[in-house]
Amino acid sequence: MATSRVLITGAAGFLGSHLCDRFIEEGFRVVGMDNLITGDLKNIEHLFKLPEFEFYNADVSQFIHVPGELDYILHFASPASPIDYLKIPIQTLKVGSLGIHNCLGLGMAKGARVLIASTSEVYGDPQVHPQNEDYRGSVNPVGPRGVYDEAKRFQEAMTMAYHTYHGLETRIVRIFNTYGPRMRLNDGRVLPAFIGQALRGEDLTVFGDGSQTRSFCYVDDLIEGIYRLLMSDYAHPVNVGNPDEISIGDFAEEIIKLTGTDQKVIYKPLPQDDPTQRQPDISRAQEILGWKPQVTRQEGLKRTYAYFQSLPQEDLYKKEHKDFAPYVRKPQKENH
Ligand code: UDP
Repeated sequence: MATSRVLITGAAGFLGSHLCDRFIEEGFRVVGMDNLITGDLKNIEHLFKLPEFEFYNADVSQFIHVPGELDYILHFASPASPIDYLKIPIQTLKVGSLGIHNCLGLGMAKGARVLIASTSEVYGDPQVHPQNEDYRGSVNPVGPRGVYDEAKRFQEAMTMAYHTYHGLETRIVRIFNTYGPRMRLNDGRVLPAFIGQALRGEDLTVFGDGSQTRSFCYVDDLIEGIYRLLMSDYAHPVNVGNPDEISIGDFAEEIIKLTGTDQKVIYKPLPQDDPTQRQPDISRAQEILGWKPQVTRQEGLKRTYAYFQSLPQEDLYKKEHKDFAPYVRKPQKENH
């Protein structure tokens, strides 16, 4: 039998690049696609020498053409940090909506199974804790995070419609906060923000009073969950995340201890619509995929810190988003 071939959109991003590695390891032929707005070719440059890896520099929101057979399509292209959504809101909406339409159409044409990267953000600022897949969420469609949250909700609806009406094989993973090597140091998310600040000798900026919670999953665990879901026969959404919940204030203290920095915590205003709590209920993933996370936060943070320490010094001072922290809303020019 010929080797299976998989298309991964967002291939040069944090999760996309780890997925490329995993599928190569599993013996697949991998087609990566990325328009490199938030992705970085450095994340996949080690794959370019491999005959089983191809790359298209393309925007999945536009018409996409991939010659040859495809067995699987994984849609992971999207800006993924609140600061990115503010910077490029229309593109965030387009890649979630038009992008998935193109992937599903391609899936129909190729007879490929399509897996989409959905998110805990479909639950918004949740009124139910922990969040299970039946909870329908509390999202502000017109707030700053609405461009991401609603695109992902639309993406789930569109995917389910293709499954129901066209009989396409589809999978939906709801990803909770994930961290690990290849996160962009300056993408504004809390872990790279804190580690970057510690490495630069700056104080750590906690937004609000730090009582809001998140539950952080190490990237290798997430990739394993996604792989198992893709290979399962389950078409409804599945939460994949680590239920080990922590307040952002305590998380800052953990990073201070991990990095050994002398810096302290300073407090900044809480961004609009920042969820007050978040913790995945992973009973479904455990039951259907036999999956649960294996890497403790202590171990995952150690590996991630080692990665950030290994980056060239100048990366620490690339302030891509200096005008946006902490999520000040102002009109921006963008190409769309
Ligand atoms: N946060 C913070 N300081 C920062 C960046 C983020 O206190 O420098 C907080 C943010 O307000 C949120 C949490 O950390 O409550 C997680 O933010 P992130 O952007 O990583 O992801 P989210 O889960 O909000 O999408």
